Amino acid sequence: MLLQVEDLHVTYDTVYGTLNALNGVNLSIEEGETVALVGESGSGKSTLGLSIVRLLPPNGRYSKGSIVLNGKNVVSLSGSEVRRMRGTDVFMVFQDPLNTLNPVKRVSTQVLEALAVRAKKENKAFDQREGISEAIEKFKDVRLPDPEVLIHRYPHQLSGGQIQRVVIAIGLLLKPKLFIADEPTSALDVTIQAQVLKLLNSLKSEYKMSVIFITHDISVAYVIADRFAVLYGGEVSEIGEVSKVVKSPLHPYTKALIESIPKRSRKEGELVAIPGSPPNMLSPPTGCKFHPRCPYVMDVCRTENPPYTEADERTLRCWLYERPPT
Ligand code: ATP
Ligand code: SF4
Repeated sequence: MLLQVEDLHVTYDTVYGTLNALNGVNLSIEEGETVALVGESGSGKSTLGLSIVRLLPPNGRYSKGSIVLNGKNVVSLSGSEVRRMRGTDVFMVFQDPLNTLNPVKRVSTQVLEALAVRAKKENKAFDQREGISEAIEKFKDVRLPDPEVLIHRYPHQLSGGQIQRVVIAIGLLLKPKLFIADEPTSALDVTIQAQVLKLLNSLKSEYKMSVIFITHDISVAYVIADRFAVLYGGEVSEIGEVSKVVKSPLHPYTKALIESIPKRSRKEGELVAIPGSPPNMLSPPTGCKFHPRCPYVMDVCRTENPPYTEADERTLRCWLYERPPT
């Protein structure tokens, strides 16, 4: 197992009190597997990604649980161990890539720095000229225009979409064991989105990398993931193989999410919104966090949070699939 997240709790200190962003997340990922984290805004997807790369903001805290990545517990690594882990064990592409690149260094310099890290990891000699040609090839893969010219530019001379593709290309050059992509294509236009998704998809076979793909768009996740982990209120409400989860969702929240995908038969623009709003994580509902919005709610749901249950080859949290406590 490449990644094993167990009973992970993460909180944020806020002026309004402690916000419980992750509440007992369990997630494991095999080598070469792609798992999509899906769920509405605020469900904890980015927090989970940031926790795995140890990049929680200063007000974020690991309050319980463990994250074992490639045999090491990320939560308890020292600063230098974390720096070593990033790029080799894990690489994360953010929704907003602008802060990922250093604004005062040319793209070529930053690419060469990344390649020097990789060469050190592989115990190989490093040739700058070869590094630049390899990077240009990767830039072509992510459909960057004029890669030979672009590589010598500064980040501010590139568009947001180009920077995003440079960052994805650097991630690919590093060949980390786990590639985390947080809404990596939302800033790109539709054609380039499709190309980048195809490229991320090829990671599995070409590089044997595992991928965590964070998105609120199930139709995008469907294209590239092996498994879906559906997040709600900082918990994994259902996790299973993509085809199972999409064709026969079990958890009422997953059902509602799948229903919300625009169907071709529906009139353009006619989206089915999930009734109600996501929980306020400063004062979440008691019991099952989905209960105020759930059409199947029972008395037990209002007071007791369901445990993890196995049903139809997946893991989920819902009293409909578990004998309520007596
Ligand atoms: P989105 O799709 O909008 O990015 P998400 O599913 O990634 O949402 P997170 O960004 O992980 O969700 O947020 C989880 C919860 O933590 C939300 O309630 C959010 O408001 C809160 N949160 C996130 N970052 C911070 C922060 N830096 N300080 C305080 N609360 C935060
Ligand atoms: Fe609905 Fe109850 Fe299941 Fe929660 S536990 S999803 S409220 S049926």
